[in-house]
Amino acid sequence: MNIHEYQAKKLLFNYGVNVTRGQVAHSVIEAEQAAEALGCESWIVKAQIHAGGRGKGGGVKFARTLTEVREQAERMLGMNLVTHQTGESGKLVQKVYIQEAYNIGKEFYLGIVLDRRLEMPVIMASTEGGVDIETVAVETPEKIIKVGIDPIIGLQSYHLRKLAYGLGLDKDQMKEFSKFIPPLFEAYLKTDASLVEINPLVLLKNGEFIALDAKLNFDDNALYRHPEIAALRDESEEEAAELEAARYELSYVKLDGNVGCIVNGAGLAMSTMDIIKQEGGEPANFLDVGGNASAETVARGFELILRDKNVKAILVNIFGGIVRCDRIANGILEAARLIHVQVPVIVRLDGTNAAEAGEILKEASIKQIIIARDMREAAQLAVQAAKGDRV
Ligand code: GDP
Ligand code: MN
Repeated sequence: MNIHEYQAKKLLFNYGVNVTRGQVAHSVIEAEQAAEALGCESWIVKAQIHAGGRGKGGGVKFARTLTEVREQAERMLGMNLVTHQTGESGKLVQKVYIQEAYNIGKEFYLGIVLDRRLEMPVIMASTEGGVDIETVAVETPEKIIKVGIDPIIGLQSYHLRKLAYGLGLDKDQMKEFSKFIPPLFEAYLKTDASLVEINPLVLLKNGEFIALDAKLNFDDNALYRHPEIAALRDESEEEAAELEAARYELSYVKLDGNVGCIVNGAGLAMSTMDIIKQEGGEPANFLDVGGNASAETVARGFELILRDKNVKAILVNIFGGIVRCDRIANGILEAARLIHVQVPVIVRLDGTNAAEAGEILKEASIKQIIIARDMREAAQLAVQAAKGDRV
């Protein structure tokens, strides 16, 4: 789960992290009041959306006067902000964060994530702050310093020294850096965060380090332990189809390709996406209809997938264990009838009652439904169909 910058800053502040002073506003009037209450000389008005790259998209603006704060808030609220992380459709700005403007000395990048290969959290730091860290990682990976923190040992001063040396900090800066990091790392651990990203982490002219931006992601499976964090969820920022899927207990993630997938079991769903890619296609989604998929869940799956206008073909890949394939076949027919599936549906059913299922589908003889012998053939047919080739 993702939260807004203003929420992340408030949470980090409670752990003792040095964050910017600021306040969220839902309207132009609130924005002006917030700016006045902060009582500073100049402000930064920042659009609050669940995406980065706001600066370049026009969602981070400097304001010298209260009038300018008002003007910027008026411009941003209700605007559709497009950044490299939102996709073309952009995101509606419903809130702005009014922040004191700071005198930046130097910008750094700082991130904490779980490194699955090292099996421990890793703190990443770079002198290339403020910019796209993904670009730095590709073009100049040596500029990202990574330090793994063994959970049994915990964060130690030598970890901090290693990071500070890597960043080329002098003695005084290192002292300040060593004050900044521990509460941030504690917040990462205690909140079950999956990502903490401070970009930029700023060295102010007065020698202090401060989080100018803050991004926090949380492990969904740990949210039950943190009701106060779960309450920060902003559903209006999330993919509508994903929210609906969650209500039906379907595990759905929208992707950018054009081959829709309906699969039972997360592992089979992953390998289905892999095989689509191997055959030169791009999956439109991840969808696990669960171990005891019914005709109804399959129908719901079709509905969700077909809302995505990119979808040109659907691959149904079901392995019948507890699930009986004949039931799924009936589900496919019912769904095809109810929601007028227009795109080709390639079906691979294997396992319990697969033969009966094949008979049911053949007998129905619906022209969009194509039966594949195995998973490889199913992927090939689906990719071809999505390209518009006749199958
Ligand atoms: P993002 O573009 O969505 O990552 O938004 P950020 O919060 O990182 O802001 C983008 C950029 O605006 C930062 O990298 C800074 O260069 C600049 N910025 C933000 N706040 C301030 C501030 O208080 N003072 C100055 N001088 N620049 C700021
Ligand atoms: Mn940023």
